[in-house]
Amino acid sequence: MIVARAVGGRAALILVTLLACNVKSTEPPALAVAERLEAPRTDVAPVTAPSATNAAEASSAPQPNVERVVLITLDGLRWQEVFTGSGVEGAAEGPPLMPNLHRLVGESGTILGGPGCAHDVRASGPNYVSLPGYMELFGGRAPATCRNNKCGQTKTATVLDEVRATSRAEDVAVFSSWSKYARAVTRTPHSFVVSAGARTANIRHLGDDAVLRAHLDEGAAHAGFPGWGDYRPDEHTKRAALRYLETVRPRLLVVGLGDADDYGHRGDPKSYRRAIGEADAFIADVDRAVSAIDGDGARRTAIVVTTDHGRERSLRHHGAGFPDSARVFVAAFGAGIARRGPTCAASPLRLGDVAGVVRALLDVEADAPGSSLVAEVVAPADDAPGSSARMVAGPSL
Ligand SMILES: [Zn+2]
Repeated sequence: MIVARAVGGRAALILVTLLACNVKSTEPPALAVAERLEAPRTDVAPVTAPSATNAAEASSAPQPNVERVVLITLDGLRWQEVFTGSGVEGAAEGPPLMPNLHRLVGESGTILGGPGCAHDVRASGPNYVSLPGYMELFGGRAPATCRNNKCGQTKTATVLDEVRATSRAEDVAVFSSWSKYARAVTRTPHSFVVSAGARTANIRHLGDDAVLRAHLDEGAAHAGFPGWGDYRPDEHTKRAALRYLETVRPRLLVVGLGDADDYGHRGDPKSYRRAIGEADAFIADVDRAVSAIDGDGARRTAIVVTTDHGRERSLRHHGAGFPDSARVFVAAFGAGIARRGPTCAASPLRLGDVAGVVRALLDVEADAPGSSLVAEVVAPADDAPGSSARMVAGPSL
């Protein structure tokens, strides 16, 4: 009903569209506003287990130079837009939508998922919508039961839970535009900093930062468009996340942006592209922030960028009925990342492989499946971060 009010005369048409593509809709936030000031919990179960068994992951030595990872998710981006104008053979022509991402990857990183490769990077599906995608991304494997955006809190230990087991609560933080993102990032709510959606904040582990609170309040005052319900527009999510990064300098910061996906659902390609450009500008802002944190010496922060699913050509839809929406991309640059530029994977990759990259970068052990993405993205331990130019040929047709 809220959707119908929001779109006025187009209610019937849009409502059908939303149901068909399982769009992120308005539901009660996963965490309550009142939880902001609760006392910290101390009963968080540590995640312990043998190290990974996958050969690629096992061969990747710890990255002692990596102190911090910033993982940025851009909801529902098609790979075509990510690679547009990038110079990659087979990519769509036109002005680049993500020039900063490609510049930074070119300087010290790797990007996978583009055209002309024998192997893609894919969400496992079978329903290519957000909550199953994020559960796969953070859990490191396809969720056993979550098939749509109505799932409850994940029951799988996530890579954030694993990092939290050896970190302070404030050293793991999530800022996302979509409130249900909170259900995918941890199986133990309240164990670290989560600000998901406009009014859903669990920042009790944080000191009294008036500037951050002002950013969160501003986001709460602008809830809704271009999403629905408790959605926080990206500009407010970005502002709060950057403030947190600059002041707290967490070991793992996860930022979930979603404007592009919502503009896609609304059938607004111009705004969809503009949102991608603004997300690209944010990536540059994050890079500047971590450069200031790392100082003049070698980089100590890695930045990873990916998406939860793709979408079909009209932009309005993604999900089980749209096989193209399985395709995703993964980019990484900075400390501990192999400098390969745009490249092709040696084997099929899954969205859940990204969790293994974060584990490898932060040297976190977990009882989790191996990730062949590690061998593609993470630099050999004897490589100086971002310096040894192991640049390989880009994808070919
Ligand atoms: Zn969507």
